[in-house]
Amino acid sequence: MVEASKFWFDKACRACECSTLIHPWTYKCTDATTTMLASCIKGSYKFYAMVYLIQILMRGKKLSKEQMIQQFKLYLKSGIFGLTVGSSFVTLNCIFRKLFFSQFSYYATVLLPCTISGVAVYLEPPYRRVLVVNLFVNLVFEYWLRTLEAKGFWRRTAGRETLIFMLGSSIFFYLMRLERENTKRTPLFWFFTPPRVSKEVGEPVKGVDGRSPACPHSGPCLNYIFRGAAQLFGVGCLMNILRTIIPRLLTPTKALKSLRLSHLKLGLFFGGYIGIYRLIVCLLCRANGRDSALYALPAGFLAGAAFRASPSTPISLAPITSTLQILFSWAYQKGHIPENWPLMEILYCLCQGLLFHARVMHEDVCPKYIINLMHTVTSNKADEIQAAFIQKIRASGGFN
Ligand SMILES: [Zn+2]
Ligand SMILES: [Zn+2]
Repeated sequence: MVEASKFWFDKACRACECSTLIHPWTYKCTDATTTMLASCIKGSYKFYAMVYLIQILMRGKKLSKEQMIQQFKLYLKSGIFGLTVGSSFVTLNCIFRKLFFSQFSYYATVLLPCTISGVAVYLEPPYRRVLVVNLFVNLVFEYWLRTLEAKGFWRRTAGRETLIFMLGSSIFFYLMRLERENTKRTPLFWFFTPPRVSKEVGEPVKGVDGRSPACPHSGPCLNYIFRGAAQLFGVGCLMNILRTIIPRLLTPTKALKSLRLSHLKLGLFFGGYIGIYRLIVCLLCRANGRDSALYALPAGFLAGAAFRASPSTPISLAPITSTLQILFSWAYQKGHIPENWPLMEILYCLCQGLLFHARVMHEDVCPKYIINLMHTVTSNKADEIQAAFIQKIRASGGFN
């Protein structure tokens, strides 16, 4: 159980020097800043290389030369964002301790500097900011859910998570179809974007051949359904295979041996998700001779069942988070929220502070993504700092 309570943290770490708590690998604060920076430059670019690779794969389209250059520029910027956030933790702590606080405290050690360093999100262009905020809000939901589970209020099962995903997908796809009519669309990163609602009307169609005039696609329905399913099945399998092979690239035989049939599960989820969705929308269009955004409700719900092939807590919550994102963007556009308020950036800062605080103080319920993220971006420095914290608390009699 790696749970640092306020009581034990304050008792064990309050009087520490920053060199024993924040940068245990070196005594001097300036050295700590430069070594941390070097680690984060390496880690951040490594991390974003993976992020951009996956994003390009998920588009399912080849990039033109201009797009490649564009993506590379964005990659460089994202890297600066990552390394700023990662390296500033040590520096801010050293500065705070010298200028404002003479002692470390539970909230001022991680929560405060990591909330402040979130301002670096301004380095990302606005549309990427939206996606990063979406990701972090989703991680906060996951963190809360895990906390509820640890306190015994909720039990995680694959069935329950699938149900949450089905309900979320149902509403999310409905809103996405409405959002398609919007001229100022909010950027959404999802497995696939449903086509806009077709305006064509025609007679109901029987059988399985051809397409209904109302269908929101060209070509025969069966083609449309299977092409989508096969494409995403491939993407899912490829992602899973890369995820397995990349860490083992140094030992190719081991990498190949580690591939199993179970790696098809992600493909089954992706392929099934789009396949069932398209199937239901086409069936309804064919039966009624007209298209409607409402078809997304049953189609999204049933398609969500494919999630059972590869369940995970963060993805089960993702449709709900993205639904909130669409609702927020509508509130902005309708003027309910003034456009010049930096709500998104503030939200990012708060989420980042909370999640990084959770990483250090409540490791057991912290989303795995955050643990991996901090490990990768800081090239293991985050884990060294964490180990020093835990050692201090253990030495003073905590955790027994
Ligand atoms: Zn220092
Ligand atoms: Zn169709």
